[in-house]
Amino acid sequence: MSDNAYEAIIGLEVHTHLMTRSKLFCGCSAGFGAGPNENVCPVCMGMPGVLPVLNRHAVELAIRAGLAAHCEIAPESIFDRKSYFYPDLPKGYQISQYELPLCKGGYIELPAHSEGAEPRRIRLTRIHMEEDAGKNIHESGASLVDFNRSGVPLVEIVSEPDIRSADEAGAYLRELRSILRYIEASDGKMEEGGLRCDVNVSVRKRGAAEFGVKTEIKNLNSFRFVEKAIEHEVARQIDILEAGGRIAQETHLWDPVREVTRPMRSKEFANDYRYFPEPDLPPLRVPPDLVEAIKTAMPELPADQRARFVRELGLTAYEAAVLTQDRDLGAYFETMLAAGLKNHRTAANWVMTEVLRVVNEAARPLADAAPLAIESGELLKLVETGAISLNAAKTAFAAMCKSGKGADATVAELGLAQVSDEGAIAAACDQVIAAEAAKVAEYRGGRDKLFGFFVGQVMKAMGGKGNPKVVNEILKRKLSG
Ligand SMILES: [Zn+2]
Repeated sequence: MSDNAYEAIIGLEVHTHLMTRSKLFCGCSAGFGAGPNENVCPVCMGMPGVLPVLNRHAVELAIRAGLAAHCEIAPESIFDRKSYFYPDLPKGYQISQYELPLCKGGYIELPAHSEGAEPRRIRLTRIHMEEDAGKNIHESGASLVDFNRSGVPLVEIVSEPDIRSADEAGAYLRELRSILRYIEASDGKMEEGGLRCDVNVSVRKRGAAEFGVKTEIKNLNSFRFVEKAIEHEVARQIDILEAGGRIAQETHLWDPVREVTRPMRSKEFANDYRYFPEPDLPPLRVPPDLVEAIKTAMPELPADQRARFVRELGLTAYEAAVLTQDRDLGAYFETMLAAGLKNHRTAANWVMTEVLRVVNEAARPLADAAPLAIESGELLKLVETGAISLNAAKTAFAAMCKSGKGADATVAELGLAQVSDEGAIAAACDQVIAAEAAKVAEYRGGRDKLFGFFVGQVMKAMGGKGNPKVVNEILKRKLSG
């Protein structure tokens, strides 16, 4: 932030696809990756005379999202028509929820990354359901429309203007995505349009009670773009105010190439959507026992898993936050522990360094890039029992990522097992002591520093496979004798 005298006021509107098999109001597949206009029917093409039928599973997922975000679930909500004209919207309106959304209030708690820090709560205004539009494609001088996405169920998650920086917006989005993935409501795949974000930004003098004039940045499709666009927009607004100017209430687009926001032409957005209740759908009534059933079946949420990792496994707040940023990562860690590991923090560090490194390097999902979690656990178990060293485990792990073989087989194949047998180690110590009589005399005369030299010689004699702990013990005993 270029000027500390100002404070940024940020609210986010996140759209995310719900993971249903079919669309919101028809039986077409909601899947991604089909050929253009393969998943369409008269309903999602907006043909005259068709009637929408609400997808029950989509409603249940939206309720799950609402409960996970501590929202109040409305016993009755209404679908509305949001009218506007665009080539990707053949009906001329989008079915959405306006005055009476499914979920109201609630909050998202951002993980504290340091001990004792107060978690930040970002309040939500609402979560409502709506259908997605199709997709315009402009290529080789032609404009094409693909309606596969038309009618795919979305929730829009609207926050209060509680966010104060680009970093905090990023933390909010990461936590939101994590929650949606934990509850299997959304896969949050930004690259497939699975999570999109509109940002409202204003600035005010620190300590001022009134909000400044806000601008809206539309349709950001990566966390990085959200953070960059906020940084740019906050700086732009401060510059205008500092120069004595006024902020115009505008809608902007982010230009990811030039890394600037630019105002949309006023023609590009018309704010009069002429909302009115969708006459083809009755009010959505959610009986309390349905809400209770969904609550009961709710999986553990990232915040609860974090708290449990700290409370029961002795992890730091930071470690717990990293491990719960993704559902698969938390599950990987817990499966590793199931191998019977005693040192939870070593396992946590293993996931945060070795496992995350191969995932990042391979740029593939965890399940493809890393060995089975239980095999990672078995590998660390071999370290705990002293069968192999931590360095040998790293070597074995790299091989396991490529071969897909198990821990025991890999350690045997690479000959990584370390020798803990006291007889073998004692013999190697005797051999070194006999060969280095002069140095032994020096050591016994008080040159303690030579101890490392003897350890090195014993390890060399054993091909690097002596258990360092046992080597140290036996060597110390023999040299002092
Ligand atoms: Zn359809």
